[in-house]
Amino acid sequence: MSYSIAVLRGDGIGPEVTVEALKTLAAIKERFGHGFLYEEGLVGGASLDELGVPMTDDTLALCQRSDAILFGAAGGPKWDDASTDLRPEQALFRLRKELNLFANLRPVRSYPMLDEKSPLRPEVVRGADIIFVRELTGGLYFSQPKKRWQTPEGRRAVDSEDYSEQEIERVVRVACELATKRRKKVVSVDKFNALISSRLWRQVATEVGSEYADVDLSHMLADTFAMQLIVRPTQFDVVVTTNMFGDIFTDEAAVLAGSMGMLPSASLSGLPDGRTLGLYEPIHGSAPDIAGQGIANPLAAILSSALLLRYSLGLDEEACVVEHAVTSILEEGYRTSDIYSEGTRKVSTQEMGELVATRIREPKG
Ligand code: NAD
Repeated sequence: MSYSIAVLRGDGIGPEVTVEALKTLAAIKERFGHGFLYEEGLVGGASLDELGVPMTDDTLALCQRSDAILFGAAGGPKWDDASTDLRPEQALFRLRKELNLFANLRPVRSYPMLDEKSPLRPEVVRGADIIFVRELTGGLYFSQPKKRWQTPEGRRAVDSEDYSEQEIERVVRVACELATKRRKKVVSVDKFNALISSRLWRQVATEVGSEYADVDLSHMLADTFAMQLIVRPTQFDVVVTTNMFGDIFTDEAAVLAGSMGMLPSASLSGLPDGRTLGLYEPIHGSAPDIAGQGIANPLAAILSSALLLRYSLGLDEEACVVEHAVTSILEEGYRTSDIYSEGTRKVSTQEMGELVATRIREPKG
C-alpha cells in the first residue's frame, strides 16, 4: 500500500527532529514493505523568509491532498517583530482551522527509566499513562468577539468562550472512542461552577458518555484537575477538555514524562469521506536555544510518526513497533542531553534517530 505524506519541517530544531522521524518511517517501510511518498512544503519562518507569508495556499493544498502531515515546529526570535502581525505560528493556526483539526491528542506517559528526570517523586509518576484530547478549533482562542478598544475610562479587551453542542459532541466522542480501546475511563474537565459554556460542555459530555455503556465518563473542575494531575496522575486514562484548558494542562503533564522532547501529538479531523486527516508534531516548539547543535531530543518527533501510522494510515502494528523501539533504546541507556543522567550514554539527535531506526529494522529477541 502506498501513502502520501506532507512534510513541513519548519524552523529551529523542527528540521533536525523531522529528519529523524523520516528515518523511522524509512525503517518501517523497509520492514513492512509500505510505500511512503513524501512531498515537502515550507511553513513558519522558513516560508516567511522565502515566500513572504507563514504558509502559502500551495502548501495548504499539499496538506489537503495528503494522507497525513508531518510537522516539525514553527517560530523563533528572528521573526519576533512586534511591528508586524505576520508570525510563523500562524501557519499552524491556519492548518488547524482550514483542515478542521478539531481533536488534539496528546499521549503522556511516564517512562520508568526517566522517572528521576521528573520533578515529581518517582512513586507519583510511575505508571502514569494518559491521553489528553484537547478541543483545538473553538473556544477562547477562536470565538468572537475577540477585540481590544479604547473607552473614556481607558483600554478594554475581550475574548470569548463560545462552544456549540456539535463542537463539544464530536470531541467528547473522540475521547470515548479512544477510551473503549484503553482502560475505559474518561474525565471531562470544565469550569461548570463559573462558566455557562462549561455547563453546556458538561451537559453534552454527559449525553455522549451515556451512549458508551462500557465507558465510565466523569467530570472534574479545572482547578481540582490541575492539582490531581500532579498529586495522583495514575488515576487518569483519557482526559477531554476545552482548547485553553487543554493547552495549559498538557504542558503541566509534560513533567510526568521528564522532558518536552518526549511528547508527541496528533491533531485530527474526521473527513466527510470517512478518512481521518491528521497533523503530527512534537508538542515542543522550535527550541532556538539549542537549534543547530545536534542535541535536540528527536523522540517526540519519532513518537509523532508512530501516531501518524496509527491514526492516519491505520497501521497499528507498525505504530507499536516504533513505540517499542523507543522504549527499548531508552532501556539500553541511550539518552539525549535533556534526559541524560549519570550512568547513561549520551547521544546526539542523529545517533538517537539511527538507534531507533536500527531497532525497528532489527528487533531484539
Ligand atoms: P520550546 O518548546 O521551543 O522550548 C522550551 C524549552 O525546551 C527550551 O529550553 C528548549 O531547548 C527545550 N526543548 C524543547 N524541545 C526540545 C527537544 N526536542 N529536545 C531538547 N530540549 C527541548 O518553547 P519556547 O522556547 O517557548 O518557544 C520557542 C519558539 O517555538 C517560539 O517562537 C514559539 O512561538 C515556538 N513554538 C512553536 C510551537 C509549534 O510549532 N507547534 C509550539 C510551541 C512554541
